[in-house]
Amino acid sequence: MSESPVYGACLCGSVRFRVELPTLFCGHCHCTMCQRNHGAAFVTWFAVPSNQTEIVKGEELLTRYASSSHGSRSFCSQCGTSLFCVSEHLPEHVDIPLANMEGEIDKAPELHFYFDSHVSWVPLDDGLPRRGGDTGMEPLPDESQSEGDRENPGDEG
Ligand SMILES: [Zn+2]
Ligand SMILES: [Zn+2]
Repeated sequence: MSESPVYGACLCGSVRFRVELPTLFCGHCHCTMCQRNHGAAFVTWFAVPSNQTEIVKGEELLTRYASSSHGSRSFCSQCGTSLFCVSEHLPEHVDIPLANMEGEIDKAPELHFYFDSHVSWVPLDDGLPRRGGDTGMEPLPDESQSEGDRENPGDEG
């Protein structure tokens, strides 16, 4: 099994951090902010209490961007890698992208959230629960029909 701590880093390696297990949550976020910020179809996040993670190197290179009225995202000012996401709604938690970890954590992704804005160009049929709506976490009807039947893919209204 996964051993604690697990280390993570940005692309250039200037920012390095340590995470103590266990984690609280792991899931795929399909919100448009994650898509644009990471240049990706979706971002796989895990969360830990903030006292279980520590930046061991390069803290002075981290730039914090206020990405919404209640949240901030930090990135390495040298290579641009997005790392930590913190929300005032859960100020004692830190969200960390799973792809930036150097080793395994204690959980596999458990669900999809903000699934209403998922891209049409990545087929997803992993059987994990899909959540959406205003909070991004409300249960969505099971789309068991083929993906091609969907109307207006990507239309967020
Ligand atoms: Zn970097
Ligand atoms: Zn997101």
